Amino acid sequence: MTTEPLIVNAIINGEKIQTEKKIERENPAHPEEIVGYAPNNTREETKRAIDAAYNAFKSWAWSDVDDRITRMKNAIQKIKEATPEIAELLSREHGKALYDAQGEIAISLMWMEFACDHVKKVIEPELKEHENGKTIITHDPIGVVSAITPWNYPISLSTIKIAPALLTGNTMVLKPSPLAPLAVSRVTEIISDEFPPGVLNLVNGDAEVGVELTSNEKVAKIAFTGGTKTAKHIMKAASETIKKMTLELGGNDAAIVLDDFDVNDERALRRMVISNFLTAGQICMIAKRVYVHRSIYEAFVEKYIEAANKWIRIGDPFNPEVTVGPVNNKNQVQYVKSLIEDAESKGAKVIKLGKVLDAKLMDNGYFLQPTLVLGADPHDPIVVEEQFGPTVPILPFDDEEQVIELQNESIYGLTSSVWGEEEHAVKVARRIEAGTTMINTAAVQGLDVRFPFGGVKQSGVGREYGEDGIKSYTETHVINLPN
Ligand code: NAD
Repeated sequence: MTTEPLIVNAIINGEKIQTEKKIERENPAHPEEIVGYAPNNTREETKRAIDAAYNAFKSWAWSDVDDRITRMKNAIQKIKEATPEIAELLSREHGKALYDAQGEIAISLMWMEFACDHVKKVIEPELKEHENGKTIITHDPIGVVSAITPWNYPISLSTIKIAPALLTGNTMVLKPSPLAPLAVSRVTEIISDEFPPGVLNLVNGDAEVGVELTSNEKVAKIAFTGGTKTAKHIMKAASETIKKMTLELGGNDAAIVLDDFDVNDERALRRMVISNFLTAGQICMIAKRVYVHRSIYEAFVEKYIEAANKWIRIGDPFNPEVTVGPVNNKNQVQYVKSLIEDAESKGAKVIKLGKVLDAKLMDNGYFLQPTLVLGADPHDPIVVEEQFGPTVPILPFDDEEQVIELQNESIYGLTSSVWGEEEHAVKVARRIEAGTTMINTAAVQGLDVRFPFGGVKQSGVGREYGEDGIKSYTETHVINLPN
């Protein structure tokens, strides 16, 4: 493994470019180590990338779908071959444990393969014969797509957009987050090299580049994953030219543990712990608040702590023993800490979980030991905010109407989970306002690329994954041939 800083490129019209100003990315486990540099692109360069995508669209839109699939499959093969190198890079710039980085690449490849296998079915023109004549319904590409992605799953949340957009005949400009730009830039370069110039462009930067990507009149669709607050700016910027949009936003997913949950079910408890602390809790669809029926609350908490102490091992992401690495950045550490301190100052009990494998590292890097918060008020910030870190409040509830109300009063509705006897759990699940609800596991473990994923309320607009996630890159065109 190299420790020399890596310099990644921007890609505009097939050309790899560098900028004088660069984004510097440090290793969250060892912040003194610079993992690499990405270009810090300007608005002017972003406009050039959009122009390139706009010009490429004219022919790419009418390209042969079999040719597009072949190109994507070539890219998949090359990413597979480069997986060990890319996973290490992702782990070093992000802080997620190596197995977690490998998992992110694996799910990205699974989705890209699904998109290749299903695109023909999704865009196949439909012919309807009826009493007034004939109607042809086609599913055509939309145009230039601006894809803007966050730092927590930079590769999977970019390929979730790149594969269906390009396969359905769109062109794209992708902008990853400045907090994890390196590994995703490598993946994007591999894909872009398989396609004609201008089909897949890559720029780096933050809000300024984002504003160009979301307001430029040549952009037809925005595919955004990130915070709900940022999405509000994007909707405003895009309103001038009424762009199509897919928005995958924040969540404050609840896990509801019913009175018939078996507290001795070690497998389920392990799943619950993972669903709270995988990727140090920095996942949109992780369970961020747990409500437990009062009749089993105490027994549940005891068994939960046992299970957490077994699974959680904190330390260097490259240590194969480690299950939870550092938090991605300093601001996030401070924010999550402030929520825990706020709850503690109001009388909540705070319990540290897991085994620290390297105490020295903890002081130096952006580490936060996984924390359980008991006795918080249901309306404390630690419960109602999207805390996005390695902490979870567990609260008791007395009746199901009350817990359904607590779950649904959130502005968010991304995923949720219900734990207990199956039929009972499904009955409760039906009442939950969320895009996905899992029974006896959480979305982060049960995620299946074959089915649509997305949020209700302020958690998003539209769906990714599944055939819906491919179709969202098409416009429906009706051609009528009357008798
Ligand atoms: P963020 O909203 O701060 O940033 C996301 C992206 O938007 C970044 O690339 C950023 O540079 C860009 N950006 C910032 N300001 C912009 C502007 N004015 N116009 C256009 N782009 C702009 O989010 P983050 O902190 O990177 O990621 C964490 C958030 O993402 C959490 O809220 C999490 O829940 C959410 N998320 C949602 C999903 C999902 O599928 N629903 C998945 C992962 C993460």
